[in-house]
Amino acid sequence: MTIDDIDRVTVLGAGSMGHGITEVVALAGYQVTMRDIEQELVDDGYDDIEWSLEKLAEKGLIDQAPADVMDRIDTAVDLETATEDADLVIEAAPEQMEIKKDIFGQLDEYTPEGAILASNTSSLSITEIATATDRPEQVCGMHFFNPPVKMELVEVIYGDETTDDTAETAYEFVESIDKTPIYVRKDVNGFVVNSVLGPFGDEAAWMASEGVASVEEIDAAMVHQRGYPMGPFELSDMTGIDIGYHVRKEAGKPIPPIVEEKVEAEELGQKTGKGYYDYEDGEGTTYEAGQGEDVDWLRIESRIVNEAAKLIGNDVATAEAIDTGLRLGAGFPEGPCRRADKIGLDTVLEKLDDLHEEYGEERYDAADYLRELVEAGNTGEDAGAGFFDYGDSAERDYTTINHSLNDDGLLEIELDRQARMNALNADMMDEIVHLLENVDVDEVRAVTFEGAGDRAFCAGADITGFAGIEPHEVEVTPVFQTVNDFPRPTLAKIDGYCLGGGNELALACDLRIATEDSEFGFPEINLGLIPGGGGTQRAMRMLTEARAKELVFRGHRIDGELAEEWGLINRAVDDDELEETVEEYVSDLVSGPPIALRKAKKVMNEGRDQDISAGLELESQAFGLLLSTDDMMEGASAFMEDREPEFEGK
Ligand code: NAD
Repeated sequence: MTIDDIDRVTVLGAGSMGHGITEVVALAGYQVTMRDIEQELVDDGYDDIEWSLEKLAEKGLIDQAPADVMDRIDTAVDLETATEDADLVIEAAPEQMEIKKDIFGQLDEYTPEGAILASNTSSLSITEIATATDRPEQVCGMHFFNPPVKMELVEVIYGDETTDDTAETAYEFVESIDKTPIYVRKDVNGFVVNSVLGPFGDEAAWMASEGVASVEEIDAAMVHQRGYPMGPFELSDMTGIDIGYHVRKEAGKPIPPIVEEKVEAEELGQKTGKGYYDYEDGEGTTYEAGQGEDVDWLRIESRIVNEAAKLIGNDVATAEAIDTGLRLGAGFPEGPCRRADKIGLDTVLEKLDDLHEEYGEERYDAADYLRELVEAGNTGEDAGAGFFDYGDSAERDYTTINHSLNDDGLLEIELDRQARMNALNADMMDEIVHLLENVDVDEVRAVTFEGAGDRAFCAGADITGFAGIEPHEVEVTPVFQTVNDFPRPTLAKIDGYCLGGGNELALACDLRIATEDSEFGFPEINLGLIPGGGGTQRAMRMLTEARAKELVFRGHRIDGELAEEWGLINRAVDDDELEETVEEYVSDLVSGPPIALRKAKKVMNEGRDQDISAGLELESQAFGLLLSTDDMMEGASAFMEDREPEFEGK
């Protein structure tokens, strides 16, 4: 079964996950059947989808009519009718092995021979579920996160017998529904995200149990110093303290006393009104910025990194997959492998060894792979390599951007920090600069920038980490200038939020094309700041003074249509015209004469900041030089011969 063979999808279960998965799959254009064991449950799930689609449409997050999406969804109670034509089944029934095995046994009987059978289980063994069928090679895990409509990540999990063909088709299917897949190449407990996330709560609980820091101090440190979206105790209160308790019990792992106490007292978190914090009589979380300055966060992060290293060493996942997983599946501000490379793997290893010496517990056993990296001198970014390669070669691994260079010379750069709406952080800025400085310019004819996902081009600069910077440490960030000066035309393709630093990046490009409902603005003033990446200056030169000042002073957003009227962008187009319009522009740029385009960009950029006579001087020098190029000869001949020119940049 290849991705092209998948037309009909069946989702089993209309509960929290089942209805969400059905919605996502139907949104992507597939025909879906959603099945539950009773009509009432199916109907509830169906209503939930309808409600959710209406919300998405109201917020302008989808460009299809909810009714059209609903038309692609059938419901069923009978398992055979629900699955007899299915090319792919995604099971999202209750988390009990007997139920799953029972379902997979029946699926084996009813579904067409080639159909792929996937389970959305969070914690059960795919290998064991697959034993209920005679086609374990066609069974895999497809682990969505809650809620599926919002969460970008899906883990594609191999059971022991799963073939590459099956996993690859499942992976491509996930991409086809606009989600981001990562491979989990072995059927390990917790898969990737929950395995690596485990120590976040576990080590925090040991620390609080020992009394080295309080619940509030630890939460404050992890959120305000380390940038996690929630503190470990806050997270545990949200998911339920009993969940982590049972996971440890089943895995035969020791339970931190503080967890034991909470479970005994039946204070399980938000669902019981009380957990580490009081949600009933109290105000919920009570930690504040500034608390927990002395918390030894490295204890927690070292264990997270260690878990990641175990997975890599055991060929379960790559560092890149782990980082993507934790960013998109757990909202980590950056991937744990990337972060470890910054901290220094030797520092991480030393911490684990110290803890091991002090406590003698298995949880501090350092992964072989971590030790091997350190022994080989690959201790992270400063050493040029760690989990990732930081050599100055073009081979360097990027963790916040994706890029590809096609045969026509179009370099496409995708900003990819979806969990943070592609906000610029230090890594992203550094990686863009590194890419533009190391790419072979002769191979490139034009560059486009766009944002991953469907919400944002780039929603700003990630301000986690700004607090506490001394004024003298603030530098002019080179990324905007590097983009501005890149000797090829650059184009920002904008769909969604284009704010703050994202807006500055777009303004540093030569051309900007956006969807009409994209939103542009400089919200910095609302934070008591001003744009710091050239925004004030570029806006003044690009817009009328009144409009530039309005954007910067008021901090309001304007939509794509108004941005076009103001001259902030070249074109505002309908959602479904964006691709086509960008292609038309790009095709002119990549087929245009490279030297003339480079000169045009240079004299226009430099001349803008000078008086007209100096600008004219620049222009005439460039003009003179172009007269002697092969491209100019080619352009003239093509014109005479009435054909398309083929410029070679000579
Ligand atoms: P849920 O209880 O909300 O929904 C399960 C649904 O499956 C119920 O409506 C139930 O009636 C139905 N069901 C029972 N037997 C069935 C059968 N034989 N065929 C079809 N449907 C059947 O549970 P959920 O939270 O949606 O979880 C479903 C699966 O997704 C579980 O394996 C769970 O581990 C996994 N999961 C859950 C989450 C989460 O946060 N809720 C996240 C990721 C994965």
